Amino acid sequence: MKITILEQNGNSLRFVLSGVSAPFANAIRRIIMAEVPTMAIDDVMMFENTSAMFDEMITHRLGLVPLTTDLDTYLLPEECDCESEFGCNNCRVSFTLDVKAEAELKMVYSGDLIPENADVSPAVKKIPIVRLANNQRLKLEAYARLGKGLEHAKWQPVSASTYKFMPIVEIDTKKCDGCGDCVKYCPKNVFSIEKLKPVVQNEINCTLCMECIRHCPIEPSPIKISHDKKTFIFYIESTGSMPASKLVKEAVKILERKTQSVIEQYKKVK
Ligand SMILES: [Zn+2]
Repeated sequence: MKITILEQNGNSLRFVLSGVSAPFANAIRRIIMAEVPTMAIDDVMMFENTSAMFDEMITHRLGLVPLTTDLDTYLLPEECDCESEFGCNNCRVSFTLDVKAEAELKMVYSGDLIPENADVSPAVKKIPIVRLANNQRLKLEAYARLGKGLEHAKWQPVSASTYKFMPIVEIDTKKCDGCGDCVKYCPKNVFSIEKLKPVVQNEINCTLCMECIRHCPIEPSPIKISHDKKTFIFYIESTGSMPASKLVKEAVKILERKTQSVIEQYKKVK
């Protein structure tokens, strides 16, 4: 198995994973989406809400605010010894919010949530929550805990977790007449013209859409599109809770634990 990083900036990561099967690649993709724990607001105590919006709508919006997550400090509530419904300092983080509009309209933003631990705070500070008219006030206390995407989408740490097969694009230059239609119709600019003949320039961009073959006037087409069944191009985009590379590492750890448990169960049965 080999990993080659193609692009890494901010919250996104593009890499090539080679030497694995499709079920393995899919397991990594699904664990990133559904099983890497992340922090989200799960309980809200509303002290004052004179805004035009119901308490439920505001709490729903607060739940969807991505929070930076520290997996080394906090435990999942089901793994914590406290067994308390409201959690303890090891499995819960509290936030306070108190915003009042004086003479003018005022927008309450995610950044107005003040955390008790600065390591767990809104990943994006300018997410609008509710607009307050003059003299309206929003005062509340919110509690965040770790959870998994398979329980609720607010605990999903990614906005994108995808992969595609590594494309293989070949042109039989002897049969090609150099009309250039493949260059014109390819939506991903895979081809370019060199010495009056099309050449494969950005093979990795190919989405296997086959537009080049569909528009090629020669029958059968000299272009051959296929894919490598053991190589995948991954694209991971984090919500800001953790860097995308950390998400991949955590997903691999979870997959390892799951495999280990299957092996142990199998040994017991045997
Ligand atoms: Zn606890």
